[in-house]
Amino acid sequence: MEAAQRAPAASAVVHHERYYFPAGTVVIKVGHVLYRPHRDILDSEVFHHMFSMPPGDSGAEGLDDVRPITLAFVTTRQFEDFLDFVYRPWSPPPYSVDSLINLYELGKMWLMDDAMAFARSQLDSMTLHPARRLQVARLLRVEAWLAPAFRQLVTMPLRDLTLEHGRQIGLETYQILTKAKDGIERERRLAAAKPPMLDVQDVECEDHRRCQSNWNVLWKRKVGAALLHPDTPLAFAQVLDHVQSVEWVDVFTGCRDGAIEKLEANGFVRDNEIIQQAVSLLSPYYQSDDSGFRGPRI
Ligand SMILES: [Zn+2]
Repeated sequence: MEAAQRAPAASAVVHHERYYFPAGTVVIKVGHVLYRPHRDILDSEVFHHMFSMPPGDSGAEGLDDVRPITLAFVTTRQFEDFLDFVYRPWSPPPYSVDSLINLYELGKMWLMDDAMAFARSQLDSMTLHPARRLQVARLLRVEAWLAPAFRQLVTMPLRDLTLEHGRQIGLETYQILTKAKDGIERERRLAAAKPPMLDVQDVECEDHRRCQSNWNVLWKRKVGAALLHPDTPLAFAQVLDHVQSVEWVDVFTGCRDGAIEKLEANGFVRDNEIIQQAVSLLSPYYQSDDSGFRGPRI
């Protein structure tokens, strides 16, 4: 056995370099690696159940290297990340995103709320690219991360999204993202080309047709051009402020104020509506499994 540890053949069983404690109290095998942690530290009902299984024909499992408790459906990388958590005084931050995802998934499988909560709060406090954030949100089913990350992505030019970002967000999200961006661009062109009606004539306005014609020309020149600016287009949320800062030459003050009041009342929110619609289409893919819906987990 000693010799096998030093120069393991491909299929030989080896002791994990950090988590095979000589004084450990249970031997666990994952793949071809043996771990010997302390039973007490694996504080989960699932483990308690595993440890209290009646011995099979070949004797009790987990007492030695010959008959370890074998964990299926777990990789050595995942189990190591999990042990890093349970023995965490020895593995201080920073943690990698992948390790925290592994921890969350094993915590979920073994009903360890503290592992899940720890992974989630660590991931929550990290600054991630919105594409990566969406990927993590979908893997962990944290719906609360969806809308802010989607909103960030919508404002990014598509040329800044790499193939890797595309893989991270997945095909459904990418499809809905590009449609939302397309819809917002259409609204932008519409808003630029179609000045709002200057239909409230002030009682003191003597030539309202001239008023309207100047308003239309100035809208396209000052507001429309800003909305369509190739490098720094005016955001929808800034349109009202911009309208108020424009000098509306030869538009009667009372008529202009009436039109701006109407704009304020209606709001410039078409982009928000499009984003909210997109987010509600995506929600099912990000909701927790408890909702009963199981979207794809690519
Ligand atoms: Zn007028």
